Amino acid sequence: MVHECEHFYETGRKCHRITKRGEALCPGHRPNPRRSLHDEPAFMREVAVLAEHLRTAGDDDLFCALQDALAAILPAIERKASRAGYLPFARASVVVCIAVERIIRSRERRNAAAANAAQQQARGSR
Ligand SMILES: [Zn+2]
Repeated sequence: MVHECEHFYETGRKCHRITKRGEALCPGHRPNPRRSLHDEPAFMREVAVLAEHLRTAGDDDLFCALQDALAAILPAIERKASRAGYLPFARASVVVCIAVERIIRSRERRNAAAANAAQQQARGSR
C-alpha cells in the first residue's frame, strides 16, 4: 500500500506526494529541524515581547539582559564553533563589555558633575 502525505494546503487540497514508510508527511511537509526559528510564530512573539520589555527597561536592566544573553550563547559557541568561529564571538563579547563599562563610567561622571554643580549652587545661594 502506498502512503500519501497527510498535509492539507490552505485551499483544503491534500498533498498527494508519497511518504517514506511509517511517516505521515512527505519530505516537503515534514517539520524541518534546520528551518529558521524566525519562521515560527511562537518564537517571533517571544522575541517581540522581549524587545518591547527591553525598550522600556532601564539601562542597568538592559546591560544585565545583554550580559545574560551573551552568557547563554557561550556554551553553544564553545561546543560547536571552530576556532575561527569562536574568535568573532570573543571579540564581540569584549567590545560589549568595554562599551558597557564606558557607558556606566560616563553616567557616573555625569552624576558626580551634577551633584557638584548642585552643591556649588547651594553654597552660592547662602
Ligand atoms: Zn506533502
